[in-house]
Amino acid sequence: MTDTHQPRLSFEFFPPKTEQGREKLLKVRQQLSDLEPDFFSVTYGAGGSTRDNTKDIVTHFKSEGVSVAPHLSFGGDDETIIKGLIQEYRDAGIDRIVALRGDMPSGVGGGYQMVYANELVAFIRQHFGNHFHLEVAAYPEIHPQAKNYDDDIRFLKGKFDAGADSGITQYFYNPDAYFYFMEQCQAAGITQPIYPGIMPIINFTNLTRFSDACGAEIPRWMRKRLEAYGDDSESIRAFGEALVTELCETLLDNGAPGLHFYTMNQYEPSARIVENLGLNTSSS
Ligand code: FAD
Repeated sequence: MTDTHQPRLSFEFFPPKTEQGREKLLKVRQQLSDLEPDFFSVTYGAGGSTRDNTKDIVTHFKSEGVSVAPHLSFGGDDETIIKGLIQEYRDAGIDRIVALRGDMPSGVGGGYQMVYANELVAFIRQHFGNHFHLEVAAYPEIHPQAKNYDDDIRFLKGKFDAGADSGITQYFYNPDAYFYFMEQCQAAGITQPIYPGIMPIINFTNLTRFSDACGAEIPRWMRKRLEAYGDDSESIRAFGEALVTELCETLLDNGAPGLHFYTMNQYEPSARIVENLGLNTSSS
């Protein structure tokens, strides 16, 4: 980016499972690059299930000269495997990682031990010094497994104390949740920037399913509005675009340092919002 006053912009993808999905994603990535994001990120499947796919796509992006952050969790892997993977990322010129605990892979029983994100951050710092810019996850509406609000903030602080540089939030549609959360983070002594995660509204059924699983709230009025559209996908798209554009405006106008888009590997929904905001476009 040339204008240092522009908010930070990043786009998240998931690793495609098929060759067709891969081809499509490479094109979407190219289109989104026109909006000059600071970086792209690529998720890591629960338990390390997409280890090779994630590595394949991030190293490909990197070879195209793009700034990219693989998401990473220990999953079911041991330290040697994870260290080797991070080494490969470093050797490929990657200098950013989104460090996570991740979730339990489905079908795995109670003996599965997950490594908290603060421990992964400490592990990366221990073995790779300050080579990587480390992002961690933050939850304005509080992580679904957190015992209470204050504990979750305390554990987030633990991730920064372990060496994380910045946070990216779970998506939310109520900006007050983010502003209150930021106040609480500040009160807890967190000084690092925390970037709101933005989920464009593409498919109401999928959104409801995701939101129930990850603890992101869809406000009742919004749910009712979306339900009323039924199968009218064009109305859902138009309503969602206006609503999420307004959410982003409110966030940026009130001090959010940038935006991280959950693109769902699609160009249009995120790009239209960025264009509506006048960010990084020729008209801005
Ligand atoms: P942690 O920060 O480790 O926290 C997990 C839970 O444990 C919280 O309830 C916390 O309060 C509690 N906790 C934290 N530390 C401790 C401790 N030391 N002792 C006791 N309790 C503790 N999932 C994927 O599978 N792949 C991805 O690529 C992915 N990318 C994501 C990107 C972003 C920006 C976000 C917001 C989420 C992402 N997720 C991803 C989802 C995430 O993995 C889940 O929400 C997961 O349940 C928690 O991961 P975490 O890194 O936030 O965990």
